[in-house]
Amino acid sequence: MLARKKTRPVRVGKVVIGGEAPIIVQSMTNTDPRDVAATLRQIEELAAVGCELIRVAVPDQEAAVKLKEIVRRSPLPVVADIHFDYRLALAAIEAGVAKLRINPGNIGGTDRVKAVVHAAQGSGVAIRVGANAGSLHRSYLEQSKGDLVQAMLASVEDQVRLVTDAGYDQLVVSLKSSDVLETIQVYQAFAARWDFPLHLGITEAGLRWRGMIKSAVGLGVLLAQGIGDTIRVSLTGDPRHEVKAAYEILKALHLREHGPVVVACPTCGRCRIDLEKIVEGVEELVKDLPYPLHLAVMGCAVNGPGEASRADLGLAGGKEEGLIFRHGEILRKEKEDRLLPAFAEELQKLIAEKYGSGYNQS
Ligand code: SF4
Repeated sequence: MLARKKTRPVRVGKVVIGGEAPIIVQSMTNTDPRDVAATLRQIEELAAVGCELIRVAVPDQEAAVKLKEIVRRSPLPVVADIHFDYRLALAAIEAGVAKLRINPGNIGGTDRVKAVVHAAQGSGVAIRVGANAGSLHRSYLEQSKGDLVQAMLASVEDQVRLVTDAGYDQLVVSLKSSDVLETIQVYQAFAARWDFPLHLGITEAGLRWRGMIKSAVGLGVLLAQGIGDTIRVSLTGDPRHEVKAAYEILKALHLREHGPVVVACPTCGRCRIDLEKIVEGVEELVKDLPYPLHLAVMGCAVNGPGEASRADLGLAGGKEEGLIFRHGEILRKEKEDRLLPAFAEELQKLIAEKYGSGYNQS
């Protein structure tokens, strides 16, 4: 298990960020926050795929009024995302949110920051502050002579001091850039100086495949160094993809378990079965399974049996046929067209024995 940098625990509703807590997966709704039904539907969909904390934008008073109903019915703790207007932050606290995401530098002066911090403290609401490379105040860039990492660090440290000087320390911090290397450097620099838990993300990461790669590289490097207590993989589109991608990153580093891991070979000239079709079939079989099984689908006898035999359940192709393994033992040999149904049957048996639960493969 990777060693994690020690951070102070911050309670956010029913979850804890930092300390000994697992790394929390979060996402953000992209429905109109004034549409309570649509926003709650999306939160439920996100909870169903494993999201643990949900952020909702609160752009105006109407959204702040509707927030109360969203918080009351949400299965997940709600984080209110507030900019510019401290009254929205006060209304969100009143609505019962578990955390506020604010920029103390843009909500209107020290007195207003104090009012928000005192209200948050009184209600046990955590606060996330953060620097975003795209919206840094010019003065920080001038001070740092254009060094974006130093500018982000100075900006976020000023925000941290604004809140801690007001007497509150239940803080989570983020330092987001769309540039992966900058993001890595600025989180490393902050983590070396402070013990506040860190929210990791690459901002404006982009459409799905590009965003996933940027997030996997940036977040992966930081998480492998023990940095990061909650993650959001920002992707344009359906936020359920953010949650699934976040778990794949955490699973790859053995930081969380979340459903099966499916390894598959890339295939090459040795493969004599339609492996892609079989892998797609296996992915479909397991897409909603909660069990942390290790499954391997391999094209041939070179790496196939070795990799497949290390798995809870594995498949290795031959010439228009294949073998199915369970924990290193060959269970059966099947013709190509029987491989997927046979794999499904063995998976069903394995789950029934291991977890004692029924499993419907249809
Ligand atoms: S397992 Fe076999 S088919 Fe798959 S990539 Fe390796 S050598 Fe090629």
